[in-house]
Amino acid sequence: MGKSANNADSVLKAGVPATEPAEVLVQSAASLPNLFVRASCDSERVFRGAVRLGDLPRLVQWVPMDEPDTLLAFSLRFFRDSGRDLLAEISVQTTVQMDCARCLKPMSLPLVSSSVLHFVYNDEQAQHVIEAREPVLIDAEGRIGIAELLEEEVLMALPPVAMHEHQCRPAWQETASKEALPIASAELRPNPFAALAKQWQKPLLTAQDEAVRESKQVDDE
Ligand SMILES: [Zn+2]
Repeated sequence: MGKSANNADSVLKAGVPATEPAEVLVQSAASLPNLFVRASCDSERVFRGAVRLGDLPRLVQWVPMDEPDTLLAFSLRFFRDSGRDLLAEISVQTTVQMDCARCLKPMSLPLVSSSVLHFVYNDEQAQHVIEAREPVLIDAEGRIGIAELLEEEVLMALPPVAMHEHQCRPAWQETASKEALPIASAELRPNPFAALAKQWQKPLLTAQDEAVRESKQVDDE
């Protein structure tokens, strides 16, 4: 029976567009489990999949407007080290939208992040977590929600400032050039005094006048 289910899966995967890795299963954020950290580490549980970025409440504001179905791909592996610490490797991959700090226009940027999480029960334990690990506080019951871990990982990985790679126009310059526009068009308008000045120019000596002058000179000699 297990075999036939596998066959059905492979048939479904064949229809998945090549751009999406076939092994990534898109699931709803609501289906992401809450679990007991201690038991998950002991049994080295592994979670792999993808959720819609917009399904995670704390990440809604970072969803690209033109790609509302943007996926967050993730993998999570719980384990213990030799010191019996409660740990998990987490990695996330998605695309977020931020406003460019220079032109203030929205821009999409790829976000990839991975961390080693160290689960602790209180602040005192958190202070002893080594720098290479991220302390994560769990309650007395020792439960944690995978959705919250994904949210936290993305929020931590967001750059403090985003800026277009190309030399975009600073927002303050955009405003300044709009204000300058009426002056620029005024320069293109014909100047009424220019036409008037032309009429006042002294008439040039004509060729005929020159001839008259020459003949007079001949007469004088
Ligand atoms: Zn920009």
